[in-house]
Amino acid sequence: MQFKISRRNFIKMAGAATTGIMLSQLADKATGHASSAPKGKCYYKGQDIPLLYEADICVLGGGASGVAAAVSAGKRGKKAVIVEKGITLGGLQTMGNVIPCMTTWAPDSDTSFVTDLKDRLEKYGIDYDDHNEKSEVGIWTNPEALSLIYDEMCLAANVEVLYNTIFVDVVKKGSTITHVIAQTIDGLKAIKAKTFIDCSGDAILARTAGVPSEHGFEKTGKNQPMSFRFEMGGIDLEKVYQYVTVELGEDFCPTKPPHYEFAEARHRTRQYVLEKFMVDGINSGELTEEDAEYMQAFAIVGKPGTISMNCPELPLEYSASDPLSYSRGVMAGRQMIHRISQYFIKHMPGFENAYLAKEASMLGARESWRIRGKYYLVEDDYHNQSRFKDAVARTAWFIDAHGEKVSEKLPKGAYYEIPYRSLITNEIPNLIVAGRCISASFILQASMRIQLTCMSIGEAAGIAAAWGLENNIAANDIEWDKIPASQRSYVSK
Ligand SMILES: Cc1cc2nc3c(=O)[nH]c(=O)nc-3n(C[C@H](O)[C@H](O)[C@H](O)COP(=O)(O)OP(=O)(O)OC[C@H]3O[C@@H](n4cnc5c(N)ncnc54)[C@H](O)[C@@H]3O)c2cc1C
Repeated sequence: MQFKISRRNFIKMAGAATTGIMLSQLADKATGHASSAPKGKCYYKGQDIPLLYEADICVLGGGASGVAAAVSAGKRGKKAVIVEKGITLGGLQTMGNVIPCMTTWAPDSDTSFVTDLKDRLEKYGIDYDDHNEKSEVGIWTNPEALSLIYDEMCLAANVEVLYNTIFVDVVKKGSTITHVIAQTIDGLKAIKAKTFIDCSGDAILARTAGVPSEHGFEKTGKNQPMSFRFEMGGIDLEKVYQYVTVELGEDFCPTKPPHYEFAEARHRTRQYVLEKFMVDGINSGELTEEDAEYMQAFAIVGKPGTISMNCPELPLEYSASDPLSYSRGVMAGRQMIHRISQYFIKHMPGFENAYLAKEASMLGARESWRIRGKYYLVEDDYHNQSRFKDAVARTAWFIDAHGEKVSEKLPKGAYYEIPYRSLITNEIPNLIVAGRCISASFILQASMRIQLTCMSIGEAAGIAAAWGLENNIAANDIEWDKIPASQRSYVSK
């Protein structure tokens, strides 16, 4: 991976450290964190579970929303901990290979976490901005840069990250959650906190605690299709651009390499010029119908000659909310990856020397479970451009429920807002839910799930959790608009 460092940024960095020195400082700080395990136990199902960590705020899941939540709580002086089953932060962004971040299309939607992330990407020489107002991409990035930057953000905000730690259960006193029980490298441990934020994507903490939830489209019972993303290296991207955009005349990507994408989706109303390329593969027996259903590829900034494939899209029979079906989907998806990558190497100009570089280490679930909270966002909120006095974010990304519904974009400058009430529940006073599993219908979630919006929702969750503790107000009683405007990440206008 190449992180280009401009002269300006080199000077900015040189005063403090070179990248290498910064890395070693991070490692030292991380080691220093390790010795602070509290003494104590938590009685759970007939046994005493050792207390591993005691925090003000415990965030389950270190994806885009979870990092934003923990970092914003940490920045407000709260002791925050992230429980994460992987060994990198970013969730779908990093382990799921889901890059880039799509634009919200909403003017002035960046909250301070997003601005901070952009600054840090720039510092690492990531050319995140394609400077094209027609571009669907908000931030071009790459997973390795994000993993490092998120570690750095957590360390700077004194956030403890428990990696390779899997949520198992909650312990409650009445309706209040007191502990999370987690499987760690050293067996079952308890994590105690005053407020919990569920950023698991699957609402697993909320559901376990008794919050009502739903999954899939109410009309079909099916989740959105999952994708098993992968990276390919050794690509001559300029040659691909010449073939797809110049020779074939594909015009949907308004930008050129290094900010470049190409795609084909047979279930969309638009006819993509690459449909013939994929159908030829079906006819020759090299691809299946399912392989050719949806194909999308994004250049990865900082990794020249590499692309991130937003495919294969798994057939709908593989469910993001059924463990057996999900696992079979992994095997089916892996076979699809090998067929598609071989087909590209054989037939796509620019891929002659390409190779399969990396499979995602997390299956790409667009939608699994969503909570039913105090406010339930629905499709009308998108079309009516709903505003809320307790709004925590604005967005206008179109409804993109693969295979079910793809909406028109809202008019330029239009957007809807997401209320704090869609992050909290009637059942659990000290719980906030953030990211793609908030209280929203299947169709509306297909708009609000994009990464920048998940980050802004997570940021608000962290701020609310910290403010609630300072003011002795339960998370599910907080009225976001009562938090002083200067302390809010987003103020509805
Ligand atoms: C295939 C695909 C393509 C997409 N394309 C785009 C795109 O181009 N642009 C865009 O902006 N958005 C895109 N999205 C949407 C976007 O990536 C996600 O909606 C968003 O990243 C979700 O962030 P999150 O924090 O809510 O959840 P996640 O990223 O899912 O994070 C959840 C975290 O919780 C952890 N976790 C879960 N369960 C447990 C447990 N039991 N114990 C411990 N840890 C746990 C996970 O490991 C993970 O780190 C796409 C999504 C998919 C699936």
